[in-house]
Amino acid sequence: MLGSGSSGNAILVECDGSRILIDCGFGTRTLAGRLATIGIAPESIEGCLITHEHSDHVKGAGAAAKKWGWGVLATPGTAKAPELAEAPVHLFEPGMTIEFERMTVTSTATPHDANQSVGFVVESHSTGARAGLFYDMGHVSRAVADACERLDILVLESNHDDDMLRNGPYPRWLQQRIACKTGHLSNRDAGVFARDAVTREMQHLVLAHLSENCNSPNIALTNMRGALVRTRFRGTVTAAKQDAVVGPFTPGDARAEAPVQYALF
Ligand SMILES: [Zn+2]
Ligand SMILES: [Zn+2]
Repeated sequence: MLGSGSSGNAILVECDGSRILIDCGFGTRTLAGRLATIGIAPESIEGCLITHEHSDHVKGAGAAAKKWGWGVLATPGTAKAPELAEAPVHLFEPGMTIEFERMTVTSTATPHDANQSVGFVVESHSTGARAGLFYDMGHVSRAVADACERLDILVLESNHDDDMLRNGPYPRWLQQRIACKTGHLSNRDAGVFARDAVTREMQHLVLAHLSENCNSPNIALTNMRGALVRTRFRGTVTAAKQDAVVGPFTPGDARAEAPVQYALF
């Protein structure tokens, strides 16, 4: 997680040396700085997928594409963002699957006040390990829940604490926009969904897009750990940060070491 929150989002996904970026909501200098801390050259990234056109997800994408020769992939609605006006954008429809050298990315429409927003599930060609990345959504739709089956890693929005939002600094119209069905996922809703989505095989649950005004890592983590009591989940729960890299989160060897299933005839 190179950074996540309303001031910028970017997630680096790597499979067997092949790299893609999900969202580029930071300027090129900030992004290059974050990548440098983990020893990654920006030019080594194969392409950048954008979840939606809000500035905290697309801000640096056009400039980064130009500077480092990236291809940008977005839905037609997202591609209308002014930040992408001069970028080489490859279009995909929500629900479509995109093949990269070492991984397959499937997009799923998300309920958000944006123009054709999506989340992604990335699957490794070599191990079959799956990571789901879903944030900026007002609720968990049936389609998103279905996409989150059998994940090894789940990056899930845990945007706000309901009470902190209600009693916080935002004007009423903004509170309503955040809390509505196409706004942002609350800690409580993230916990309710995670209870269903986690499996014994899932190794990492990463809380993303935490509000700086209406949430805290402590509150979000306490809520999620509480929600996961008496589930099959045995992995780690971590909160992403706005201003620093967190991770990496690796699926480990669980898949590779899974016992071979022999059919009996
Ligand atoms: Zn956002
Ligand atoms: Zn958004």
